[in-house]
Amino acid sequence: MAYTNSPLASLRHISPNRSSPRERSIDRISIHCVVGQCFAETLGNVFAPVSKGASCNYGVGCDGEIILVVEEKDRSWCTSSPSNDSRAVTVEVASDTFEPYAVRTKAYEALLDLVTDICRRNGKTKLLWFGEKERSLAYVPQETEMVMTVHRWFENKSCPGAYLFERHGAIAEEVNRRLRGEPAQEVPPAPLPDTEHLYRVRRAWADAASQKGAFSVLENAKKCAKENHGYTVFDESGAAVFDPGFQPYTVRTVCDVLNIRSAPTTAGRITGQIRDKRLYTVTEEADGTGSEKGWGRLKSGAGWIALDWVKRAE
Ligand SMILES: [Zn+2]
Repeated sequence: MAYTNSPLASLRHISPNRSSPRERSIDRISIHCVVGQCFAETLGNVFAPVSKGASCNYGVGCDGEIILVVEEKDRSWCTSSPSNDSRAVTVEVASDTFEPYAVRTKAYEALLDLVTDICRRNGKTKLLWFGEKERSLAYVPQETEMVMTVHRWFENKSCPGAYLFERHGAIAEEVNRRLRGEPAQEVPPAPLPDTEHLYRVRRAWADAASQKGAFSVLENAKKCAKENHGYTVFDESGAAVFDPGFQPYTVRTVCDVLNIRSAPTTAGRITGQIRDKRLYTVTEEADGTGSEKGWGRLKSGAGWIALDWVKRAE
């Protein structure tokens, strides 16, 4: 069949990152989260450089505007899986930059319209969401069926984010209702993330800019803190609820001579020097003038070294 593109896309910025034509006919839809509340135009720009090495068929901006980035006749490079992309229409949706990567109501409404339109134009009367990788990938869809797949099944990443992932069932339900010719249901406003009860992972409560993520599930916040050295989990009142604790680590210097000082500052008295490339163990860290990355206390007790001048051993 001849491929068409969605008339709902009001913008067009075709990416060079594509395979033309796609190798298989369309029977999948893969919805992604952008990790950024950007406009559709920005999405077009993001996928424009060859160096980006990625693309999508459509982008949905935070205000619901839709951009065509790769025509449906071509394969986008989106899901870390050529075999999936060769049969999928891929859609990137503007989202928050942190868990659960929430999507604004306008973008969510536009996504429902777009997915419905993609199904319709491609002769599909049913959108299927199995919620499970093996079953979804093994399923052989009938001519009139479209299967939903997600990026996280092909690469170790959160995409499409908990927010969209948890709504895949609802998206299929609403799209199917429309495909059956039933009137579109009023889309409930996408609830904002429950910011009242989020666990935030930061270096310090006052340092909001250092935030690595905000999680509704404490275990997920703990995992994030463990993976990011120097980070603590705070509850909504700012109380530290989990500090993975300092893990000593070993370093090698990246300069010829590194001073050891009595205190974590260049004002500290020099108590020795490191002139070799042996491994040294850091057992404590502190902020202090003269080293942007802070200072590390040597296990030997000799004093503190500037972390700007060392590299962590693997
Ligand atoms: Zn993705």
